[in-house]
Amino acid sequence: MKDLIELNKKVREAFPKNVKNPRIWKEKELIDGKIVDSYVIILRTKGCRWAHISGCSMCGYFKETYNAGYDEIKRQIDFAYKKYNGEQVVKFFTSGSFLDKRELPEKLQLYALKKFSKAKKIIIETRPEFVKNLEGMDNELEIAMGLESSNDKVLEHSINKGFRYKPWLKAAKMVKEFGKKLRVYILIKPPFLTEKEGIKDAIESVKKVRNIADTISFNPVAIHGRTIVEQMWKHGLYRPPWLWSVVEILKESKKIYDGIIRCDVVAGGLRRGAHNCGKCDRSFIHAINEFNLKQDTKIFDELDCKCREEWMDWLEIEEYLMG
Ligand code: SF4
Ligand SMILES: [Zn+2]
Repeated sequence: MKDLIELNKKVREAFPKNVKNPRIWKEKELIDGKIVDSYVIILRTKGCRWAHISGCSMCGYFKETYNAGYDEIKRQIDFAYKKYNGEQVVKFFTSGSFLDKRELPEKLQLYALKKFSKAKKIIIETRPEFVKNLEGMDNELEIAMGLESSNDKVLEHSINKGFRYKPWLKAAKMVKEFGKKLRVYILIKPPFLTEKEGIKDAIESVKKVRNIADTISFNPVAIHGRTIVEQMWKHGLYRPPWLWSVVEILKESKKIYDGIIRCDVVAGGLRRGAHNCGKCDRSFIHAINEFNLKQDTKIFDELDCKCREEWMDWLEIEEYLMG
C-alpha cells in the first residue's frame, strides 16, 4: 500500500502547469425524464487534495490543475458565466472537490452557485470528506461523489482511493440529509482486476448503492498520461475494458436499479479507452450515448460483431493467465 502511494506520487512529479482558462462545453443531460442542455465548466484550481498526497491509480486530472489564486478563480467563474446561455443543467467541476475550501474558498463556492442560480440543477463533484460543507447551500444541487467500487480491497489495493466504503456511505447519507441529490461514480475495470472481476465488481457496487443513489454514472477506465494505469498498460499488464463488458454492466444494472444510469466513455474505441475489435466500436459508443438519454437497454439488442466470441473467450482465459 505504501509502495503504491509513493509510486503514484513519483509518476506525476514535476508536470508543468500553465493553463488558465476554465474548460467549457455543452452536452445533453436527462432530468425528470426530459433531455435538456447542460453546460459543463471545469475550473482550473489547485486540484484534488488527495492527488497532491498520492492520488488514485487511474486519475490524470492533476494535469488540468493550476495553482490559481482567489482572483484568478473568480475571473474563471465570470468568464464561464459570460458564455452561459441559460442551459438548464450546469456541471461545475474542478478536477477535484468543489466543496474543498482549500481548493475553492467558501466565498467562491457560494459566488459560483449564486451566479448560476437560474439553472434548474447544478451538479458538483466532491470527495466524501468535504460533504459537511454543504451546510447553508440552498441551490438545487446534485452531488457527484466517486465511489468507484464498494469493495474495500479494490478501493485500497487497486484504486488507491484513500477511503473505504463505510465512510463514503456515511457521507452519501449526509448528502441526502442535506436534501440534495446523489450521483455515484463507479469505475469499470479498476487495475489489477480481470475483465470478469471488473464486471462483477461494478455490478456488486450497484447493488450496494442502489437504495441511496439518484444517478449512477459509470466510468470505464481510460489510460490517462502519467498514471500507474498507464505504466501497466505500456507493459502489457492492463487493457481498458471491452465495450461488450460495459454494455453487459449497463444491462445488468438496469435490471437491479431504477434510478438514472449513465456511462461516459472517455477515448471510446481508442486503444487508451474502452474498446472492442475496432470494427464495431462506433456502433457501441453510439448505443451507449443513446442509452444515456433514453435509459432503454433494448438499444443494445441490435449490437453484434464477431468479436463477441473473442471477448467471451477472454473472460475465461484471462482468469487462468492471471491465476
Ligand atoms: S479520481 Fe477524484 S479523488 Fe481520485 S485523485 Fe482523481 S480527482 Fe482525486
Ligand atoms: Zn467487434
